[in-house]
Amino acid sequence: MIPHAFAHNTDFKHVIFSGNVLIIGAGAAGMSAGYLLEQRGIDFTILESSHAYGGRMKRTNTFSDFPIPLGAEWLHVKESILKDIVNDANVKITTQTQGYNYYDRIGYYNSGMLMYTNLGKYADRKFIGSTWFDFFDEYVVSNIHPSIKFNTQIVDVDYRNDKIILTDSDSVRYEADKVLVTVPLKILQDGDVQFIPKLPRAKLEAIDEALVWGGIKVFMEFTEKFYPTELLFTDSETNWGQRLYYDAAYAQNTNSNILGLFAVGEQALQYQAHSGIDLKDYILNELDEIFSGIPSRTFVKHIVQNWSEEPFIRSAYLADVVPSRISSILSTSVEQKIFFAGEAYTQEDDWGGVHNAVRSARDAVHEILL
Ligand SMILES: Cc1cc2nc3c(=O)[nH]c(=O)nc-3n(C[C@H](O)[C@H](O)[C@H](O)COP(=O)(O)OP(=O)(O)OC[C@H]3O[C@@H](n4cnc5c(N)ncnc54)[C@H](O)[C@@H]3O)c2cc1C
Repeated sequence: MIPHAFAHNTDFKHVIFSGNVLIIGAGAAGMSAGYLLEQRGIDFTILESSHAYGGRMKRTNTFSDFPIPLGAEWLHVKESILKDIVNDANVKITTQTQGYNYYDRIGYYNSGMLMYTNLGKYADRKFIGSTWFDFFDEYVVSNIHPSIKFNTQIVDVDYRNDKIILTDSDSVRYEADKVLVTVPLKILQDGDVQFIPKLPRAKLEAIDEALVWGGIKVFMEFTEKFYPTELLFTDSETNWGQRLYYDAAYAQNTNSNILGLFAVGEQALQYQAHSGIDLKDYILNELDEIFSGIPSRTFVKHIVQNWSEEPFIRSAYLADVVPSRISSILSTSVEQKIFFAGEAYTQEDDWGGVHNAVRSARDAVHEILL
């Protein structure tokens, strides 16, 4: 592996670590970490349980004439995060994003009444003709793809000795000097990965205590655009979860009218109780009541991504209301051998986003290379 950007990266100049690293999970965190190790010429492999990379950044190109983000969609922080991820001044980033307009319309639906207001100041940005997944595909995956081993579900991490032994669900063993765990927190809560010896008590307690939200996204195509930029309800943002409908084709180069539904935590449960045609009818019924039956009359097709049922994810992300003490404990390494990165394992004051996953990966790589 050629450390192609080594010369441009002064932040890791005094690297003394020369062993091998096994990374569990090929989502935003695992791939960012692999990419940084690649830039430093460190031997690493990413072991991914599913047949695809990207994790919760999954997108589809087959539903419409622009890519639909089935998980991560908005850029919640400044665009400079893209440059930070690429970490190479010689690479020109052409990915486009766009913010919202102050005068974009928001609809509030409450007690049978729909009221409109301006969106106002809103920091989130949309990717244009692209997604978080596509950005990683172009700038990160192209550098590390040969080092990702798919269909490899790690079930055991034995760190009793100097060499750490990982075992997958087919009983194949892998040996490493350091291991970076980036599996969704729910996977650890469900006990899919056994650590030998057990993780420290504080870590186990934080894993158990953390509230992880489930989540679902649904996209619907209509022949008419009857909806505002965002449609909110009285329960759109609570301590228990969130939900909203939104113009998923906002700023895209398309004539298609695609409405998105995003719901996490308790607010997702009413939708997750249905599936297939039943779910479509449930949503159309909700929308018909608000828009006088236009949704059912103009409906074309829909697509559903229920993250709580995704086999190796089973969740959306760490709930917004979790105290930062928990994510901080989750992020701490164990015996300088087992490291953690991902949206839930962070020293930051917020979590749950791709940017958190990426930054936690950078922190973990720093620590691994010490
Ligand atoms: C509905 C929804 C909407 C979202 N919207 C946004 C948004 O707009 N903006 C934003 O920034 N973020 C958003 N997020 C959050 C964002 O998607 C995540 O924070 C980020 O993608 C998480 O990356 P990660 O690397 O921590 O985890 P993941 O992407 O989950 O990667 C972990 C990987 O580990 C693999 N794995 C699991 N178990 C094992 C095992 N035993 N062995 C090997 N591999 C394993 C999984 O298959 C997966 O590929 C959203 C998430 C959801 C669900």
